This record gives sequence, C-alpha cells and structure tokens, in this order.
Amino acid sequence: MLSIERGKNGKYGVKNEYGELICDFIYDEIRNYSEGMAAVRVNDKWGYINEQGKEVCEIRYEAVGDFQNKLGVVEKEGKKCYLNLQGDEVAVTNFMNEEMIFEGCKSCAIGNHTITNLPGGYLYEDDFINVTIDPEIPIRGFIVIGIKKHISSTTMLTREERIQIEEITNKVKVALEKLGAKNILLFEDGFSEHYRRWIIPSDDWMFQFGRGKNLKQITTYARKNMSIEQKKSFLLFAEQVKELLNP
Ligand SMILES: [Zn+2]
Repeated sequence: MLSIERGKNGKYGVKNEYGELICDFIYDEIRNYSEGMAAVRVNDKWGYINEQGKEVCEIRYEAVGDFQNKLGVVEKEGKKCYLNLQGDEVAVTNFMNEEMIFEGCKSCAIGNHTITNLPGGYLYEDDFINVTIDPEIPIRGFIVIGIKKHISSTTMLTREERIQIEEITNKVKVALEKLGAKNILLFEDGFSEHYRRWIIPSDDWMFQFGRGKNLKQITTYARKNMSIEQKKSFLLFAEQVKELLNP
C-alpha cells in the first residue's frame, strides 16, 4: 500500500508499504492513486506520478482528472487532451478523425450525450439502452449496445434489464439480416468497467484472421485500412439500421 504523507517542510511525498520514501516531499498536493497514477501539483501546475513515485509527464497542466479507463484528462492552455499511462498526450478520435471530448468513462459519456460527434449518432435509445455504431472502428454494421448503468457485468442487472438487452439484440440482428448481413458475430466486453455488447456482421475480409473471430486483429485492420468512401458508406448503412430500429 502506498501512502501519501506530508513532510516537515509542509510538502507531500509518497511512502511504500515498508515506510520507505519513494517520492520526496516536493509536491504541494498529491491526489489519491487511480489506476496506478496520482495527480500531483507544484504551485498552480499539475502532472502525474506513477506507483514508483516517478513523474510520468512534465508538471505543466492547468488541471488534471483522475485516471479512468487508462486515460487521464488534462487541460493545457484551456484545451482538454488525454494522457495515456506512459504520460504521452493522446487524442481519442472517432473514425472520421474528429477528436471526441469527454471525461472519465467513454460508455457513460456516450450514454449521457457528452460526446457530440458520434459517427452515425444514436441508432436507438431508451431510458436504459443506447445503440450506436462503434465510434472508433470503421466496420460496416459494427453495432454497440450500450447501457446507461456503469456496471461491468450483466450479472449486476435485473432479469428485466437482461431481457431488454436480448430484445434489442434481436431487433438489431433482424435489421442487419434485412440489410443483407449473414454471419453475425456477438461479443461481450467483460474486461472493461462498463459492460457493452458488440454485434458485427462478418465480412469476407475478416476471414484472413481465422474465421473472423479474432476481434483485436479485425479492429486493428479496419482502423488502418478503411478508406473515407468506405467509412461514408458505413454511415449510410447505419442510417438504414436506424430506420429499421425505429419504425
Ligand atoms: Zn461508464
């Protein structure tokens, strides 16, 4: 266990479980660790230290948030951007190469409409569920069923809620089949903090990755190789799905 402590000089540092000082008393403020990173302040500038007590970036940001989903939101010259766990500034861009601005959990940000440039918008939405296309990965008919509850597993849902997810899944499946999709793959994200279900019609090009079931390779390929014309056609396809989901 790391503990944040105040030194005789009035500044803060970090001690490890053996009481050894792994980060000297040099900070005016240290916030609690989140995902292995703690926000630190010197005068009016912020940065982060890791669990070894080392700075992962320059202490130069006007404001920082706690790490969530491996990203920390920071503010520089009044503009928000993101740091990854290595302390590099990264942008989360949608597949039309526009930056998506949000704080914390992306699935929650989609659920509460914080992200205003979701490609294809909302294909279906009610009090509990939102259906979108994956904003970052351009694949025809790659549908994401999101829920407006920040939970990691459907085991935390009521029976009624699980039935709602199955019902919308079935509606999406029927819509995709009407639009010519054949083998429809279903994946559940049980590793992230926020549950979601992915529905992907398999396409010939995916089979180079072995029956089209290796999601990571498929999504990496799609991000690299889809042309702007293809992406635009995926948006039109999403529009057709939307019409079928909202008769
Ligand atoms: Zn969430």
